[in-house]
Amino acid sequence: MPWIKAEDCIGCGDCVEACPVDAIVMEDVVAVIDMRDCIRCGTCHDACPQGAVRHDGEKIPEEVAANVTRALACMDACARHLGGEDEREKCLERMIKHFTKQKTVAEKTLERLQALKQELASG
Ligand code: SF4
Ligand code: SF4
Repeated sequence: MPWIKAEDCIGCGDCVEACPVDAIVMEDVVAVIDMRDCIRCGTCHDACPQGAVRHDGEKIPEEVAANVTRALACMDACARHLGGEDEREKCLERMIKHFTKQKTVAEKTLERLQALKQELASG
């Protein structure tokens, strides 16, 4: 999924013009993508003269860090609200289960999409 690096955006509006589904708007002279409308066509990557429309993979370290921060906050909250340090470890187990489930969803989705790709290739 594309995202716009605000520091590199000069507010030219080329991506807004290029987007086929009007998923990009200007906010304070910086382009912002509404991911609810984006159809992942990639047109905005090519339209931007500044390279400000970035690829999703660049955000992996940031997203991992955010997940770990969230897990630590949940562990603290569980210890605080559920009555003790034991709850911190139980919460960690639940977080591990949650992300294991997310991983399974991603793996199974990829299997389905790869199968779809093969179906399309075979006509
Ligand atoms: S990827 Fe396509 S639909 Fe999404 S914001 Fe860019 S141009 Fe618009
Ligand atoms: S084309 Fe690039 S620089 Fe221009 S508004 Fe869009 S993201 Fe910003």
